[in-house]
Amino acid sequence: MKFCIWFLAAACMLGGLASAQVTAIRAGHLVDPDSGVVLTDQVILISGKRIEKVGKGIEIPANATVIDLSSMTVLPGLIDCHTHLADGAHDGDPIGIFRKTAAELALESVPNARVVLESGFTTVRDVGTYRALGDVALRDAINRGDIPGPHMFVAGAYVTITGGAGADTGLAPDIQLPWDMHYGQADSPWEVRQVIRKLAHDGVDHIKVLSSGAVLTHGSNPKSQEFTLEELQAAVDEASHFGLRVEAHAHSPVGIKNAILAGVASVEHATMIDDEGIALAKQHGTYLDMDIYDEECIQEGGKKGNVPKDFLEHDAQLGQIQRDNFRKAVAAGAKMSFGTDAGVCPYGTSGKQFAFMVKYGMTPMQAIQAATSNAADLLGHSNDFGSIKPGKYADIIAVAGDPLRDIRLLEDVPFVMKEGKVYKH
Ligand SMILES: [Zn+2]
Repeated sequence: MKFCIWFLAAACMLGGLASAQVTAIRAGHLVDPDSGVVLTDQVILISGKRIEKVGKGIEIPANATVIDLSSMTVLPGLIDCHTHLADGAHDGDPIGIFRKTAAELALESVPNARVVLESGFTTVRDVGTYRALGDVALRDAINRGDIPGPHMFVAGAYVTITGGAGADTGLAPDIQLPWDMHYGQADSPWEVRQVIRKLAHDGVDHIKVLSSGAVLTHGSNPKSQEFTLEELQAAVDEASHFGLRVEAHAHSPVGIKNAILAGVASVEHATMIDDEGIALAKQHGTYLDMDIYDEECIQEGGKKGNVPKDFLEHDAQLGQIQRDNFRKAVAAGAKMSFGTDAGVCPYGTSGKQFAFMVKYGMTPMQAIQAATSNAADLLGHSNDFGSIKPGKYADIIAVAGDPLRDIRLLEDVPFVMKEGKVYKH
């Protein structure tokens, strides 16, 4: 293109278009989460990074690379709305990060991104990291093409009260933490606004606030309230000035309700949500992003002695309460997205949550929609992700068999394409 002179620009542009890689996928079955229907014998035409056409009997251009998935079920790339890819190699206790440099954490996170992509999750909403802005760097490295990984939408840091659910706790008070371990700490509406202004300047995609205590934080009580309603309202308002949405970690009923009333886009965990909280979520159109699988990994890690004792005490009974409340929320018709807290369970195993979502009340199609069309809507990027439609990214996966009959097929995805490029076949 750089040799084009202005009157040839149009011709050069045409040449540029013609040289974009054209791929055609033959899909025996194609799941469309937008309509909740499975289509048969479809052709997907891809030009460069995006989908150009989808339908039956579409003519395949002579120059196209053909991928034959006519014996498989094709789905849009999956989206996990609650991951922590930039926290390095998790070892069950966040105190482990104090033994590592920021560079070690960053480099340990490279394979996290790769295995998540290869497991069929082509997009993630990454909701916080113990060392601020490591997630921004990981996202940018993926976008530059330096390393393989999913589309990442990142939070930059946890916006948390001092000593709260998103703080790096467990050390003696006389130890001074480096800047990136308390970057998101805020203790008034104006401090919340200041932190969000910094994060927006740093290029984050959304804001993560912590509205109650946490299970996996030392000195924390998941049944408590942390930020006040006033602080949460300040967060949502300030984030909106930068076009950013807010998600709130909340286990306790009051933490959940405060977050919904403040206008967050989603409540994470929503463990102890009560009937009033479910009704409020419906009324406000708030997504519930409930990580109902990771209980398996917390308990399993506990048996192996890999989970600190105080975390297991926080967790007692909460796992089953969350699953029962998930069932209630689904039955009530609340908006549900798919989020796993990836990092608690090993990276690349998020697909295991689908079977639990079906076990606790969803149809297989609803579980798939939670991880595709609903998730894209929560991100505010339905134009780019969530279904296989013209104009969207060519983020496409396929499984051998019918995932609507056997949802566990999504635990082991054999074909993965992101932006028109095949990462696994
Ligand atoms: Zn989390």
